[in-house]
Amino acid sequence: MDKMIRVSAGNGQIRAFFVRNSDMLERTREIHQLSPVAAAALGRTMAATAMMAQMLKASGQKITIRINGGGPLGTVLCVADYDGNVKGLVDYPQAETENISPEKLNVGAAIGKDGEITVIKDLGMKTPYIGTYPLTNGEIAEDLTAYFLHSEQQPSSVGLSVKVNVDYSILTSGGFIIQVLPDISEKELRLLESRLLNLPPLSELYETLRDPETVMHTVLDGLNPIVSEEKKVVFHCDCSRERMEEALISLGAKELSSIIEEDGHAEIKCHFCLEAYQFNKMELRKLNIEALGE
Ligand SMILES: [Zn+2]
Repeated sequence: MDKMIRVSAGNGQIRAFFVRNSDMLERTREIHQLSPVAAAALGRTMAATAMMAQMLKASGQKITIRINGGGPLGTVLCVADYDGNVKGLVDYPQAETENISPEKLNVGAAIGKDGEITVIKDLGMKTPYIGTYPLTNGEIAEDLTAYFLHSEQQPSSVGLSVKVNVDYSILTSGGFIIQVLPDISEKELRLLESRLLNLPPLSELYETLRDPETVMHTVLDGLNPIVSEEKKVVFHCDCSRERMEEALISLGAKELSSIIEEDGHAEIKCHFCLEAYQFNKMELRKLNIEALGE
């Protein structure tokens, strides 16, 4: 089962998040028929988005991460909320790149590095917070580390890892974000740095240990970590017929009239879960009347 933990360590001067998100990635892979490298890119981004959603304050708040580096995958887009719901997509889910080695997918080449990472925080206010930073190498973890440091002035270590089976199903997906606060002692900072430097590959940790809490105890060994919260994270798409109606109304009366005349029906597909919503002529006419009233 996918889950996320929030951790405090080093006398409260280290805050960390660890997530296992294999199931939500497998579900997304089935929906979008993801290629292995698309699954790796999306799994890493979903893990990061799920953890960053836990840095928000309240239920209902949302975070969106958009990565566009000009590579063959196009844009990678993930949305997660504070309650643990996560969804994601890539423009070209079947895109492939040559592997770095037989075992290592080339996510950096698939995403590209000619572009930026955008973080949108919707806190339920009128305008969302938007932060952007140029991509470092398109591998996502390094790009996020740079984003945290330069856009949020927050020194962080980001680890993200996806492993895909030969039949393209997801073996494991998971990650961590570790952030240090200004009053961390020299000794603890050095211990954390050496832990991170000597870490076995994260995919191996998640493959053998599976549970994010066990992975966390390996990574933060000696730093007195305490789990302060544990949460289930799941793939969930919040699309609905009402939202699709709103989208149709927002096309405007003129456009709706021409759809009614030319096609007599409309099908709108959700980009995240690919559910198709059908609207017949009568329903479109009703929406057209609403559009006229706006
Ligand atoms: Zn949907």
